[in-house]
Amino acid sequence: MALNPEVLALHDEMKALRRQIHQNPEVGLDTVETVKLIKSRLDGYGISCADIGVNSLVAEIKGGEGDTTVAFRVDMDALEMSEENDFAYKSTVEGKMHACGHDGHCTSLIALAGYLAKNRDFNGTVLLLFQSGEEGYEGALRVIEDGFFDKYKVDYLFGFHAWPGLEAGKIAVHNGACMASEDRFEVHVTGKSGHASMPHVCNEPFAAVADIIKGLQTIVARKIPSHERGVVSITQVHGGSLRNGIPDNVMVQGNVRTCNEKVQDLIEDSIGQVVKGVGVMYGVEAELDYVRKHPVLVNTTPEIALRAAQKVVGVENVVTDMESSMAAEDFAFFMKYTKGCYVWIGNGADSAPLHNSRFDFDDDILPIAASFFITVINELL
Ligand SMILES: [Zn+2]
Ligand SMILES: [Zn+2]
Repeated sequence: MALNPEVLALHDEMKALRRQIHQNPEVGLDTVETVKLIKSRLDGYGISCADIGVNSLVAEIKGGEGDTTVAFRVDMDALEMSEENDFAYKSTVEGKMHACGHDGHCTSLIALAGYLAKNRDFNGTVLLLFQSGEEGYEGALRVIEDGFFDKYKVDYLFGFHAWPGLEAGKIAVHNGACMASEDRFEVHVTGKSGHASMPHVCNEPFAAVADIIKGLQTIVARKIPSHERGVVSITQVHGGSLRNGIPDNVMVQGNVRTCNEKVQDLIEDSIGQVVKGVGVMYGVEAELDYVRKHPVLVNTTPEIALRAAQKVVGVENVVTDMESSMAAEDFAFFMKYTKGCYVWIGNGADSAPLHNSRFDFDDDILPIAASFFITVINELL
């Protein structure tokens, strides 16, 4: 492993900072105190930064006259859940916890800032983007809407996630899709209510709902090519309030994941067909509300990340054959505007899973991630 010595020298300080952030989790777009803390660190390094999006932050660091810009994006929001760890730095806020490692992600980028404060021997511009609201709060979209790509010329963007199940000291690089798309849908089936003893004078919605649910289960098995991956999950069904009554409306909610945009189109179309067809068959109104929440995260410059990762952790510790994850990540939105790569850094084979009440970021990732960023800069600038 060839970790940057200057970053290693910062390790104890960064570990303490990461634990401080872990103790004080903030959720969604409401990352006010975390932003204050990051700003004060960047100020201390003599690096100025600007607000962007909602409680997100961007720092621009110039080195030389080169006109290429390399950006690094980390998230910093926690989750609405209670921590069950009992170490000294556990969350001090009941019902909030850093269970996705974003405390470590943002600290890694502060470590890079600490290094760049003293080392401007690159030819171009480096951007550090600290983003709020990754966990389903559209933090990335708020940054983009606030003109991130108008205010800054971003040639490349890199990011990472601490990854449970991947051994400590390893980096996984995906060639192409890395994380899945996430779509959400609701089907509202409307019939006609009435007494359960007289269905012939009603228009019962449940039979249609049953066939819609059954029909949706055939999409992955019968429509998607067998070499592609997709998930269609029903997550909620609500309807009725009486033991002896047929309701007017039933709502079905679901979640769709895939790692290929063409498959995403196919699933959306197929759900539409099932809902429409079953509605006609039963003579009920069946309305589909389909929302694309996150696009597929597609890495477009894996070769750069691969070279950098190999230099930092050694060829033998870079994994290139991991299946893409069916979890979504809003870094995907940025990849619609620029090229780049998102990697996974091992949080340990025995790590608790992400979003688990006992998850904790492995502090040994801090120098690995910062060294990876530095090596990417050296590769490109
Ligand atoms: Zn998460
Ligand atoms: Zn996360």
